Amino acid sequence: MISYMCLFCDIVEHRQGAFIVYQDNYVTAFLDKYPISPGHTLVVPNIHSENFLEMDKDVVGKACSDLKLVAKAVKIALKADGIRLVSNIGESAGQVIFHTHFHIMPTWSEDPEFSSFIPRKEQAEDYYRSMQKIITDTIKSILSKSETDGEVNGYS
Ligand SMILES: [Zn+2]
Repeated sequence: MISYMCLFCDIVEHRQGAFIVYQDNYVTAFLDKYPISPGHTLVVPNIHSENFLEMDKDVVGKACSDLKLVAKAVKIALKADGIRLVSNIGESAGQVIFHTHFHIMPTWSEDPEFSSFIPRKEQAEDYYRSMQKIITDTIKSILSKSETDGEVNGYS
């Protein structure tokens, strides 16, 4: 086995702390430490691949389905009007960490008030704790609703 350092593999394996909002057999979702907008969340496949184009085709479907779940939860939790879904592939695209990841960045028609939010900086502890709670709770509520609705693929 080749040994190398990968921050996101460490987060997936809980060797590195992060504010995780969702984890299953395919992906791990956690708050971006240096958020561009409030609620900025990352979704990474649990199995290491350098970027989206290198992902095993057998896990792309499951990972994208989870990406949709988390993006939907972030949009609802943050009362956002829209979402930017971004995956940078390659250094020239601005990829910094070479483990496939998707950015979920909420957007609003009119800038909402988030006390003491500073883009691209490490936030106060409160920020991470409150975001983690509202996003986690929203995911649980979406999943429990879809179970009672008896949807085949979990949520709509
Ligand atoms: Zn990795």
